[in-house]
Amino acid sequence: MSSGTMREETRLLLEWYAGNGRQLPWRVRGGAHPDPYAVWVSEIMLQQTTVQTVLPYFARWMTAFPTLEALARASLDDVLKLWQGLGYYARAKKMHECAQVLLRDFAGRFPDDRAELLKLPGIGPYTAASICAFAFDKPETVVDGNVIRVVARLRGIETEVDRGSITPLAAELTPEKSAADYASAVMDLGATVCRPVAPSCLLCPWRELCIARKKGIQEKIPVLKKLEKKHKDGAVFVITDESGALFLRRRPGKGLLSGLWELPWSEEGTPPFPGEWREEPGEVRHVFTHFSLTLRFRRLLSPVPAEFASQGRFVPDAELGEYPFSTLMRKVLRQLGRQV
Ligand code: SF4
Repeated sequence: MSSGTMREETRLLLEWYAGNGRQLPWRVRGGAHPDPYAVWVSEIMLQQTTVQTVLPYFARWMTAFPTLEALARASLDDVLKLWQGLGYYARAKKMHECAQVLLRDFAGRFPDDRAELLKLPGIGPYTAASICAFAFDKPETVVDGNVIRVVARLRGIETEVDRGSITPLAAELTPEKSAADYASAVMDLGATVCRPVAPSCLLCPWRELCIARKKGIQEKIPVLKKLEKKHKDGAVFVITDESGALFLRRRPGKGLLSGLWELPWSEEGTPPFPGEWREEPGEVRHVFTHFSLTLRFRRLLSPVPAEFASQGRFVPDAELGEYPFSTLMRKVLRQLGRQV
């Protein structure tokens, strides 16, 4: 909001937050967080992941990499290992890259400017706004799923909404001062009071102003676009040496799961090279954000071409624990009887 005055909704929410906000290890009350690094780590972890899941990961991460410099100097494998199980591994890879850029080009400090932040690897509009609000107390509008829900209900929007359509309405509520507290407050209201199902309207600071409540249509709002999930039938390729060690490679490229270690696999079931492949019993199912996947097993019976073998290594079972794997690959390894 551009004027210095504060809207009634905002004032009521800040009052409520002072007595009811959540205590979280990446939060402080009454102004900016002193450590933008901690804010950034928590914000990246919280994308697509619940607070309860993030809490132990955040604690382990901050112990292993307490500073931006510690993260920048860590090996990618150590970073990915700590991320193991959180999913969306590209996030961890980009964080590692971003820490190195900040150390090299920004003297190890986060810029406090949205446009500068957006130039950094892995920082999109949401994370840039979050860092500005939480770490620098700047009046940037942070819009996540919670904010979409509470603002859509407050204003009684019965048509389809998304982040783009809610942002201007959320911006009107964002105060010039106390922006960090406000950003926390609106998220906490969504997480603890204005929940998706059975919101506790009687405890809500907006109960007298909320249009959805007046109309009794709280649970019908927000109307979100539904994403159709595709299904893919793929295959994972089991290649072993004479000792039974499994062939692993680091997933190349920039896409899904890149940088993690894996048995070769393909979403379409295409073998990585022509050879004699035997279909094996069993399958692994996994759900990604935009598609679900079933992987069937194929074992190589013919020799592995030298050129392909040079892209990875044969790893004995006892050493599997040293490698970072995705959740999908851990399912595959468990199905093959390996302990990971
Ligand atoms: S009154 Fe109810 S529906 Fe409206 S914002 Fe508060 S909790 Fe959500």
